[in-house]
Amino acid sequence: MNEPLLGMISIQKKIASRFPAFGTNKCQEIGRLVSEISKREDGAVDGILTQIPVGCKAYPAVKDHLLKRRFPEASARGDKISEVFSSFEIDATHAVSLMRLSKVPAPKRIFIESAAEGSELAMRLRQKFASATTQIISSYKEFSSRSAFDIPSYNRRTDDLYIVHEKHDHFKACPCSPGVVPCGYHNVNLGFGCPFECSYCFLQNYTNAPGIVLPANLDDFLEAFKSYKPNIRVGSGETTDSLVYDDLTGYAARIVEFFRSYPQSTFEFKTKSDNIHGLLSIDASPNIVVGWSLNPQDIIDREEYFTASLAQRLDAAHRCAAHGYRVAFHFDPVVYSPGWDAAYADVVERMFNAVPAQSIAWISVGTLRMTRQQKKTIENRFPKNKILDAELFTAEDGKLRYAKDVRLDIIEKMITWLDERAVSSTLIYLCMETESIWKVIQDQRQGSKHRLIPGNG
Ligand code: SF4
Repeated sequence: MNEPLLGMISIQKKIASRFPAFGTNKCQEIGRLVSEISKREDGAVDGILTQIPVGCKAYPAVKDHLLKRRFPEASARGDKISEVFSSFEIDATHAVSLMRLSKVPAPKRIFIESAAEGSELAMRLRQKFASATTQIISSYKEFSSRSAFDIPSYNRRTDDLYIVHEKHDHFKACPCSPGVVPCGYHNVNLGFGCPFECSYCFLQNYTNAPGIVLPANLDDFLEAFKSYKPNIRVGSGETTDSLVYDDLTGYAARIVEFFRSYPQSTFEFKTKSDNIHGLLSIDASPNIVVGWSLNPQDIIDREEYFTASLAQRLDAAHRCAAHGYRVAFHFDPVVYSPGWDAAYADVVERMFNAVPAQSIAWISVGTLRMTRQQKKTIENRFPKNKILDAELFTAEDGKLRYAKDVRLDIIEKMITWLDERAVSSTLIYLCMETESIWKVIQDQRQGSKHRLIPGNG
């Protein structure tokens, strides 16, 4: 039996008993390594400790033995592994329920900011969710400041729907993470929070909202755009899925109508849903791009709960392209495992079979990345996850990423496959990649028919 959920203290006690000379910090480091090996190999902690060679008594030798077992691919390449392994505790009550029936659960409580009380959205959603309790609040900001932002409350986020009147936060340049090549993209946050459960979602650690937040005043956002910037690429998929709540808001159609008058700018909806009724209800506009994140179906099954299947996403892209929209695809994050290349080559093939190459505005590629804090959250929320069994190391931007050689191999292969079938007008970009990876890829692509641009993740 593996013991991934065995408390850290219990594991550390076993280590202290086997290696009495180790102090607290060393027991902690070795404890995490042993625990990760136990989870990855589905093996018992006691067995892993027993298999440490009898002569291995000093801390560096024990750690080296365990590093080779935890990171067999990096060890085989001869990579120097200088990771520090922190302590952790997994609380079994923090695991998110993946058994719910509805992909997009109805709220149990609706909170309406008083400035949004008379809005069309508030009135419609009160009617639609008549069994939910409703409370008028004077200020969302003040109300939410009293809420706890912990894992249990994040797990319950779809219970509470906040309908707000957003006064200030309309359009803004993508801040881009430190250490990555800046992208020049702009964001408009037409919602905060997402009902899907992607194990790697950065919102798990980013969110400071006690529920799902939807602004009622789209008109103010559109008005703000008039005095914002011309000629920009802007999208609504940073803090929520762009289309998952479109049945509730009906915003997609209104955005298309608005941006039809601003042809120098391009608006992108980014989604893992197939909720395209609003987009198909009106004429397409050439400066609207509908983007899907793609992964092989087995990755979707185990890492992207409640999202549309690969076939549903490609079918939705096909219908949007047939309707006249340009489409985009995001291979982000690419999740590495042995045999990853055959699975992703197949997705690339299916993507080009689903839509005409001329209708693809851009395609991005980015490999899995996360902060250390995010790793702890994933361990708690998705205790049976597989993505953390991979060999992740601290990269130059401080995030955990696959080894540089692995990332380069992924990006080179993906871009080669995309180059083969994409037309020259399709932009191909790297998502949130570090400067060093960017430079290598850029040098390799001198003379390519596709322009490589910095990416937004
Ligand atoms: S679809 Fe995007 S926003 Fe929603 S859970 Fe997945 S990664 Fe997060």
